[in-house]
Amino acid sequence: MSKIKPEKKNPDRPSSKKIEPFTRLRGMKDILFEEYRYWDIVLEKALDLAKAYGFRKIETPILENQALYERSTGQATDIVSKEMYNFIDKSGEKVALRPEATPGLVRSYIEHGMFNLPQPVRMAWIGPLFRHEKPQTGRLRQFWQFDLEMFGEAGPVADAQIIQIAYHFFRELQIDVQVQINSIGCPDCRAAYLEKLADFYRERGRRAKLCEDCRRRFGKNLLRLLDCKETQCQEIRAEAPQIVDYLDEACREHFIKVLEYLDEVDIPYNLNPFLVRGLDYYNRTIFEIVSADVPQEGEKRQAALGGGGRYDYLVEKMGGRPTPAVGFGAGIERTILKIKEKNIPLKTDAGKIVFIAQLGEQAKRKAMIMFEEMRRAGYNVRQLFVKDNLKSQLEEADRLGALFTVIMGQKEIVDGTALIRDMESGVQEVVDAKKIVCEVEKRFANNGQVNC
Ligand code: AMP
Repeated sequence: MSKIKPEKKNPDRPSSKKIEPFTRLRGMKDILFEEYRYWDIVLEKALDLAKAYGFRKIETPILENQALYERSTGQATDIVSKEMYNFIDKSGEKVALRPEATPGLVRSYIEHGMFNLPQPVRMAWIGPLFRHEKPQTGRLRQFWQFDLEMFGEAGPVADAQIIQIAYHFFRELQIDVQVQINSIGCPDCRAAYLEKLADFYRERGRRAKLCEDCRRRFGKNLLRLLDCKETQCQEIRAEAPQIVDYLDEACREHFIKVLEYLDEVDIPYNLNPFLVRGLDYYNRTIFEIVSADVPQEGEKRQAALGGGGRYDYLVEKMGGRPTPAVGFGAGIERTILKIKEKNIPLKTDAGKIVFIAQLGEQAKRKAMIMFEEMRRAGYNVRQLFVKDNLKSQLEEADRLGALFTVIMGQKEIVDGTALIRDMESGVQEVVDAKKIVCEVEKRFANNGQVNC
């Protein structure tokens, strides 16, 4: 590397005082090179599945109107009341960093008149979400989700298909998962149930025995009491009435059909009568995908890898026409954590790699031309032209898993040749530089059928 002499008294240069480097904000992550290999396989799986089931990609802005989340996710939910990153922007508008995907997708469906498209409209979405939670393993303040939403289909087959995709997503990434499923009915049957549930907690002083959070939630978000992780609340809950016993005819029939479809396509599930989700808009089917690993000692409950459900009233509530809908979201970071825990092998760089190394200025120029030629011919060609020494270049070729390295030096330039090194055996052969593409092709084909 050439050395640059610092000029004296240049006002643009930092002073000699020690400068504290910046660090990431709490709960935010950089995704570095090695980590990205996991992202690649997870995102590829997500998009492959989405495509196979007819979901098309869509993107929405990270910043939206704060009221969008207040009206959809719900003001009493933790996400909106405690965790949302909201602020007033320079034009005085109340805005929020997207804490969940569905509200923006619903807004987009309505705003672009997607009810005019053939229904159902199937959306696939991948992007970052922001929640000001207490960071811990698998819980970040900026995290990514893969989301699927299906608008305009009320039938139970839609619910089953969403669950099926969610299940295959994890299973095909070799993660053992369980589907936890429940139905929370429609607003009518839920109202009857909530009355029973409130009575249950009021009886025998149960309410007073709840944790502080639950006592506070009692008047606001009664269903969430069933979701509490505190031991005392779980003990009380064990005897609570179950919502499935309060479903009306139509809701019960819908739920049974969903389960039958899942049976049909061999998706195992666990009925969990106390499963509720932390958002306001769900009705009928709700589900979570949890790791099938037995919880370690002291671990309260397996954190969910993904979840979703039906939300037939949300589009209308957000100003659109009545449109039934169902969706699901999977956490990308949590999925990757599971893959790492299991030491699931990653694919190496796809295809056959050829590396081009060079020694000397003239050889570098020729190698640069060769590189472009081969890249355009569709080869997986790699280089490290910033290095002049052959050893570092061959080490890089090894690290990348190159099968062959083309070596250009002063002698090869004079002779009009190139060396091809077999990276496994170390054997090097001299070939005509003009025929380099064909010579590499011949070695990759490894069957003598290519004549140069
Ligand atoms: P939710 O939108 O809350 O239903 O979450 C769906 C999935 O997103 C969860 O199952 C997690 O995999 C993931 N997730 C939710 N919150 C976080 C977070 N704070 N950090 C990382 N992943 C999260």
